[in-house]
Amino acid sequence: MNPIPVNEPLLDGNEKKYLISCIETGWISSEGPFVRQFEEEFANRMGRKYGIAVSNGSVALDAAIVALEIGKGDEVILPTFTIISCAAAIVRAGAIPVVVDCDRNTWNVDVSQIEAKITSRTKAIMVVHIYGLPVDMEPVLALADKYGLYVIEDAAEMHGQTYKSIPCGSFGNISTFSFYPNKHITTGEGGMLLTDDELLAQKCRSLRNLCFQPEKRFVHEELGWNMRMSNIQAAIGVAQLERLDEFIARKRRIGQIYTELFANIPSIELPLPQTEYANNIYWVYGLVLKDEVSFDATEVMQRLAQKKIGTRPFFWCMHEQPVFKKMGLFEGESYPEAERIARRGFYIPSGLALTDEQMERVVLAVKDILK
Ligand SMILES: *Cc1c(COP(=O)(O)O)cnc(C)c1O
Repeated sequence: MNPIPVNEPLLDGNEKKYLISCIETGWISSEGPFVRQFEEEFANRMGRKYGIAVSNGSVALDAAIVALEIGKGDEVILPTFTIISCAAAIVRAGAIPVVVDCDRNTWNVDVSQIEAKITSRTKAIMVVHIYGLPVDMEPVLALADKYGLYVIEDAAEMHGQTYKSIPCGSFGNISTFSFYPNKHITTGEGGMLLTDDELLAQKCRSLRNLCFQPEKRFVHEELGWNMRMSNIQAAIGVAQLERLDEFIARKRRIGQIYTELFANIPSIELPLPQTEYANNIYWVYGLVLKDEVSFDATEVMQRLAQKKIGTRPFFWCMHEQPVFKKMGLFEGESYPEAERIARRGFYIPSGLALTDEQMERVVLAVKDILK
C-alpha cells in the first residue's frame, strides 16, 4: 500500500510559469518584483493596508514583538496550546509569556480566562487561531481596549478564514502569517506581517532588512535580522494566492468528508464544524481520544504509521516545555484542558492533494485501531 503523507501541497497552477520568469529575468533575491506584488495582493485580500513579507512565520512573530517595543519585564498573554514560535518570540525579546488554558470544544484560547491574567506589566495579548476555527475576537478586542493593550494576531493557520465575516489577519495592531507547505497557501518557507499602521510597517520593513538606514546604509541605530523573502518564494506565493478560494473550498470538503465518515465512532472527539462566528476551514483535521480509550495519541499514531499513514501530534503546551521549565517559567502552573488535548490529540492527513480514497483508507484504519 502507498504511504499517505500527513500533508502534500498543490503546486499545479501558475507556480512554474512565475518561477521561470524569475530565472529568465535574473530576479531571484528579495529585490525582485514578485515580493512587492505578493505583499500588496496578500494584504489586500486580508483587508490590511501594509504587508511585509519575511522568511517564515516564526520570525514574523519576532518582528511583531520587537516592532511593538515589547521587551524586558513586559508581559504578553498567549494560549498555552500553541506552537513554540509564539512564546519564543516573547522570551527572546526579554519579555514574559503568561499563558491561558484552551476551550474544551474549539481548542482555542478560553477568552473568559484572559482578564484574570492581566497585570500592570501586561503589554499585549497574542491571539493564535488554532487548527481551523478563529478565536472569539470581540471579547479580546474589548479587553485590549479596556486595558490599553496591543493585540498581535497569529493567523498562520487561517488564510482566508473569517470571524463574523471579517478576514482573520485583519485584527489587532499586527497580524502574522506563515507560508510553510502545510498552510493553506505556501511559498516553501515564508511568512508575512500585516498592519494598518504605517509606522509599524516601516519598523517591520527595517527589522527584516538588518535595520540598514536609507542614508547611511552601514550605520545602525537598531539591531535587525535578515528575514527577507526571496523573489523565488514570492513568485510561488503569487500563484498560490490566485487559488486561495479554491483551496479553502477543498479543505472544507476534506473536513466534511472526514466528519461524515467518522460520525459513528463514539470514542473520539472531532473538530467542531462551526461556531456562531465561523465555519471551520480545517487547516488540519484533528482527533482527540476520549477518556474511555485506554491508550493515548502516541500509540494510535504509531499504529497508523505501521499502516503507512502519516500523522502529527497536537501541540505540546508552553507551560510544559522543558526549555521554559529550565528558565524557571510557569512553575507549578497547570492547565487541564490543554494538557488533555496535548496528550489525547493528533491530526490525520489533511493536505490539499488528499484524495477521497485516501480519506476512506485513513478512516478505516482509525476505526480498526479503536474497535
Ligand atoms: C506554522 C505556524 C507558525 C510558524 O510558521 P513557520 O513558517 O513554520 O515558522 C507560527 N504560528 C502558528 C500558529 C503556526 O501554525
